[in-house]
Amino acid sequence: MTTLESIVEEVKKAESIVILTHESPDGDAIGSSLAMYNSLKQMGKNPDVIIPKYNRIFKFLPGSEDILEEGKKEKYDLAISLDCGSMDRLNGWKNYFEDAKVSINIDHHTKNSMFGDYNYVDPASPACCQILIIILEALNIKITKEIGTCLLTGIITDTGGFKYQGVTSDTFQFVAWLLQSGINVSDIYKKAFQIRTKANFELSKLAMNRMEFLEDGKVTFTYITKQDEEEVNAEEGDHERIVDLGRDIEGVEVAIFLHQKEDKTFKISLRSNDYVNVSDVATTFGGGGHIRAAGCKMSGTPEQIKTSLLNVIKRNLK
Ligand code: 5GP
Ligand code: MN
Repeated sequence: MTTLESIVEEVKKAESIVILTHESPDGDAIGSSLAMYNSLKQMGKNPDVIIPKYNRIFKFLPGSEDILEEGKKEKYDLAISLDCGSMDRLNGWKNYFEDAKVSINIDHHTKNSMFGDYNYVDPASPACCQILIIILEALNIKITKEIGTCLLTGIITDTGGFKYQGVTSDTFQFVAWLLQSGINVSDIYKKAFQIRTKANFELSKLAMNRMEFLEDGKVTFTYITKQDEEEVNAEEGDHERIVDLGRDIEGVEVAIFLHQKEDKTFKISLRSNDYVNVSDVATTFGGGGHIRAAGCKMSGTPEQIKTSLLNVIKRNLK
């Protein structure tokens, strides 16, 4: 069984450490990775944090200047995975996780495959950063402004700004405690969650124009293609949060958003409002996530993908 003590012991023992997170990393993935990075530095360690590609809006996070696109060593003593539900999603660097002497998996995805030697997983937690606070406390880390900024970014982004169902009094208590580190909530909120890049705005317009209402307005469907992205000079992560445009409309239960990848397949984002478990829907197609936010990858045309997804979603609508 994984205890906090065993995690503390392994972290203290390790001389070389690598930090990994999930592909298409969001604020919680990057925030938890950098909170861990800054904390290990405070302990006198010199970890490598690998995130090959990420949305440039997160470059304000302390420690982001040290993010590596690839590792520096062949093998590490300890690999720590944050905010990732399965080994295959480790950003193309699962070899570091498999080859490390010891591995720790810290996460909050519903169907985490428990792929580490140690697994500290709590699907009830609304953000990996919220779980991390408990671990950092066990490690005796002083929550500095830098670490607090990373943690709050993960909590704000993964809770949709404190509005999703996973938010509990624990979340607010943790955040109240974090504020003692001197972090600026308004500034972090703006930088991590409010600001849109111009390319994101342009892509949002296209997605809105293409939005279809299906199943009596309970489902929205839209997509953007590689060509759309080229036309607006989009960069990594510029499609983020477009899925929310559909979810936030009156009467909608499920929002579907397709984002075309380099190899022409589509990355699917699913969001629900009240009762459809989109993690189950995504799992049907080999993906996963959380009950109200999940994803998977599919090939085919947007029309074909829409039909396949609707066949499953339909059965879950009231
Ligand atoms: P997003 O739609 O923002 O990319 O992802 C929503 C949630 O679902 C995130 O927690 C993300 O980690 C998870 N997710 C997205 N795509 C996949 C996938 O292909 N496989 C799995 N297992 N989880 C995914
Ligand atoms: Mn997360």
